Amino acid sequence: MSLSASTRFAGVIGAPVRHSLSPVIHNAWIAAAGLDGAYLAFEPAADSFDVAVGGLNAAGCVGLNVTLPFKERALALADAASERARAAGAANLLVFEAGGIRADNTDGLGLLAALAGAGFSPAGAEVVVLGAGGAARGAVLALLGAGARRVVVANRSLDRAQALARADPRVQPIAWAEAAAALAQADAVINATSLGMEGQPPLELDLSAARPAMVAMDMVYRPLRTGLLAQARARGHPVADGLSMLIAQAEPSFEALFGRPVPAGAEVRALCEARLTP
Ligand code: NDP
Repeated sequence: MSLSASTRFAGVIGAPVRHSLSPVIHNAWIAAAGLDGAYLAFEPAADSFDVAVGGLNAAGCVGLNVTLPFKERALALADAASERARAAGAANLLVFEAGGIRADNTDGLGLLAALAGAGFSPAGAEVVVLGAGGAARGAVLALLGAGARRVVVANRSLDRAQALARADPRVQPIAWAEAAAALAQADAVINATSLGMEGQPPLELDLSAARPAMVAMDMVYRPLRTGLLAQARARGHPVADGLSMLIAQAEPSFEALFGRPVPAGAEVRALCEARLTP
């Protein structure tokens, strides 16, 4: 990478952010496109997010991807927001423009692209979403927007699943203990909890009620090969992993930040896999 006085720079902001794969992905695309650009990582203290964003904007940064725990705050401080960011109540992208800060949320696009990669289209489908946090909320909205017939939300805290269901009559909240049985009618199941992630308890979900064509997707990508995906593969289900989603949500961000589409043929998945493999 060669830096110059006119280097266009962007980054990801979160806490913690040291583990983020976004710099790996974006810098690989910058190099493949031959851009005079750089993509960094910023980790402000919890109460310094607004100051950090304002300072980076004033210093010439072109925009930021936003990760936990700042996605809601990012939406709140933006001057304008896309419909999908407003609907999600969270932003994963802030673009610094002459007229102000514009918020967007590309997580839903990433989810749909990852599912499409496994041959799944939500149109007319029934999908079981595990979880009712920020990622689950984004997933439910994206699935409904793409024409899902029914989205069943199973969550440990039933009240959070019920709150999600208030948004649309096609969303059905169920207790966590009912999730395995609900798979019998499902065309896809998506893990949007933190279960199965490194340092978290495993996701224990029996897939034996599911039809063979049901697609299994895990939004968790650390580890890349989760228990859910291992069980699904062993049973012959098509699968989509969290890394596919992560890379797919980064594509529209790159375009917004660097003003051009992701260069064709740039292989970032192998680079990320190398970072995720112990
Ligand atoms: P949140 O903290 O907002 O939500 C966490 C969810 O996990 C809640 O539904 C919570 O249930 C559930 N949960 C946590 N611990 C347990 C447990 N012990 N038993 C049962 N349920 C549990 O997190 P996010 O929604 O932001 O993220 C969820 C996952 O999605 C993370 O693993 C994250 O890395 C991943 N993700 C991946 C992305 C990608 O691009 N691949 C993008 C965004 C997120 P409760 O409501 O009861 O607390």
